Amino acid sequence: MSNTYRDLNPPERLLLGPGPSNVDPRVLRAMSTPLLGHLDPEFLKIMDETKQLLQYTFQTNNYLTLPVSGTGSAGMETALCNVIEPGDRVVVCVSGVFGERMCDIVERCGGELIRIDAEWGHIITPEQVEAVLRKSAVKVVAIVHAETSTGVLQPLGDIERLVHEHGALFLVDTVTSLGGCPVKVDEWKLDVVYSGTQKCLSCPPGLAPITFSPRAEQVLDARKRKVQSWYLDMTMIRRYWGQERFYHHTAPISMCYALREALRIIYEEGLEARWQRHALNHRALMAGLQAMGLKPFAQEGYWLPSLNAVRVPDGIQDMRVRGRLLQEYGIEIGGGLGKVKGQIWRIGLMGYNSTRKTVMVFLSALEAVLRGEGYPVRPGEAVAAAEQVYRTASS
Ligand SMILES: *Cc1c(COP(=O)(O)O)cnc(C)c1O
Repeated sequence: MSNTYRDLNPPERLLLGPGPSNVDPRVLRAMSTPLLGHLDPEFLKIMDETKQLLQYTFQTNNYLTLPVSGTGSAGMETALCNVIEPGDRVVVCVSGVFGERMCDIVERCGGELIRIDAEWGHIITPEQVEAVLRKSAVKVVAIVHAETSTGVLQPLGDIERLVHEHGALFLVDTVTSLGGCPVKVDEWKLDVVYSGTQKCLSCPPGLAPITFSPRAEQVLDARKRKVQSWYLDMTMIRRYWGQERFYHHTAPISMCYALREALRIIYEEGLEARWQRHALNHRALMAGLQAMGLKPFAQEGYWLPSLNAVRVPDGIQDMRVRGRLLQEYGIEIGGGLGKVKGQIWRIGLMGYNSTRKTVMVFLSALEAVLRGEGYPVRPGEAVAAAEQVYRTASS
């Protein structure tokens, strides 16, 4: 037995898929520091600081702001199951996998689901939302800000006005936008917003930051029934993360260390600078990909800086290219999910990975692999196009 299980020694990877993304070594160090008891005064301080840093990152003063124990999907389920009671009418905007997942959860909560669908790769329009809201009174409108399955950044402003004109709550998935592009919870009047640690926050998967506006908290307080999930019930969790410290479940100590450190890194960089960094590296990457003749998948004008989706060129085999990138270069990128399986590549530039170095390394590797697969690329063309973007930006 003794030699059967070798030491854990995972290969080094450049994680440029839809998540998880690579984490800053500072975050890994924070995770390996000694445990505290979850009610130790020193840990309570860490919880409070994490909440403050989350308020900064979400750009909100919402009192009810904390990380839920679980991945981004736990954030999604928490957001929905706390504001929905059986029979409530809920609109879900669907233009990819994560909108679909929201629909599934709404039905499990007993909500009366009204779907608004857009073609994958396209945004949901305010006109679509208005048409639905005119017809029936709804309690919640849910939408994905950054649809990771298609690489689309969904504008929220006009839809927010309609949602509030009709007296509904606006519930937003920011799993792939928080920390990668502007998310301004208070200024944009968002009511329930959740995210995940493993995308642009550059922290391992395991926590789901969430925030409830005072309006959303009122809806929570006015519930007639208990929240259907015991574990994700915010009426109890808020007492644990609040001054009362009422025991609900044990906070995952090491993950809280990790999130605090990841958020501290964001605070040191500054959100504004971080958004600009993501925007610049995204532009350089897309310039390089397009110079190679690759076609963007997402609707023009709505490209997501943290996740770049391009079509797999005709005659090229998706799995072979991704396999070679991983085997020959240690680089992971994402393939298509659901109805675009095999048709697109999804290249994440999230948080720690959104750098000029990453863009250049990736474009060179992709060029070499594509040439090896018989795809016509002129050597150096992609890197030159990206380089041009950086030169223009710094002049
Ligand atoms: C990744 C993702 C999720 C789910 O997060 P997990 O950490 O995989 O549970 C939800 N919504 C969006 C938009 C995502 O990209």
